[in-house]
Amino acid sequence: MRSSCHDYPRLIARWRALARASGLRLLAIAQVDGYPVYCLKTPALSTAPGLYLSAGIHGDEPASTEGLLAWAQNHQASLRGLPLLLFPCLNPWGLARNQRSDASGNDVNRMFQGDIHPTTAAVRREVRPHRFSAAMLLHEDYDALGIYLYEHSRTPPFGELILQAAEALIPRDPRPKIDGRSARQGILRPRLSLKRFEEIGHPEAVWLHQIGCRRGVTFETPSEMALELRIQAQVAAIGRIVELQRKLAS
Ligand SMILES: [Zn+2]
Repeated sequence: MRSSCHDYPRLIARWRALARASGLRLLAIAQVDGYPVYCLKTPALSTAPGLYLSAGIHGDEPASTEGLLAWAQNHQASLRGLPLLLFPCLNPWGLARNQRSDASGNDVNRMFQGDIHPTTAAVRREVRPHRFSAAMLLHEDYDALGIYLYEHSRTPPFGELILQAAEALIPRDPRPKIDGRSARQGILRPRLSLKRFEEIGHPEAVWLHQIGCRRGVTFETPSEMALELRIQAQVAAIGRIVELQRKLAS
C-alpha cells in the first residue's frame, strides 16, 4: 500500500477526499512542470495566528507527504477548527520521479527570496494575508542516523519537545555534527547568515523566519529506515507541534 507513495494523483485524490469529509477545499495554487500544486486553508486561519505545515518540497522524501496526509486523516473531525495552512506536496514533479529537484534541476527550497519560481511565488501569495505563530517543514535525509530537526525560534524553542514525541518510533540522530553543522541530541540551531543565503538562495524556513513566524522547525526522518516507521515519526512530530501551537494560542 505504501509502495505508491510516489503516486501524486493518488496522493491528491486522498487529500481531496479528506478535504471533502472535513468540509474544506483543496485549492490549486499553481501549475508547475505539468502538475497542479495545492494548498488547504482552514476557516480558523482568518482569525488566529496560524500553523504552517508543508511537505514534499524535495521529491525523494516521501515520508513527509505521507506523514502529513496520515496526520490530517487522523484528525479529520477537528481540522476545520485548527488555524492551518497546509501544503500537501510542493514538488509534485519530483515526488512522481523520486527526485529532489524540480524538472529544471532547481532545489525549490532555495528559491523563497522572491517570486522567482512559480511554486514559491504561489506559496508567498497564499501566506501574505495571514500571520503564523509556528511552522513545520517536513523533510527526510539519506545520511541521517535518526530523527533530527533544525529550529529557528524567536521565543523559547520547542524542538526538544517535538523530538520527544517521535523518538519512541525512531531514535535521535546521535552525531555531534549533522550536515556540517553542530548538533546537540538531534537539534540544530544554526545562526542565520543572510550573506550565506544570498549566495545559496533562501530556504522556506529562513523566509518564514524573516516574515515573522516566531517558531520554525525543519523536521527530518532518516530515509534509509522503514517507510512506515518514518511516516509514523512524521505523524508524531506534527501532532506535537499542533499541540504546542494550540497551547501558545490559548
Ligand atoms: Zn529535504
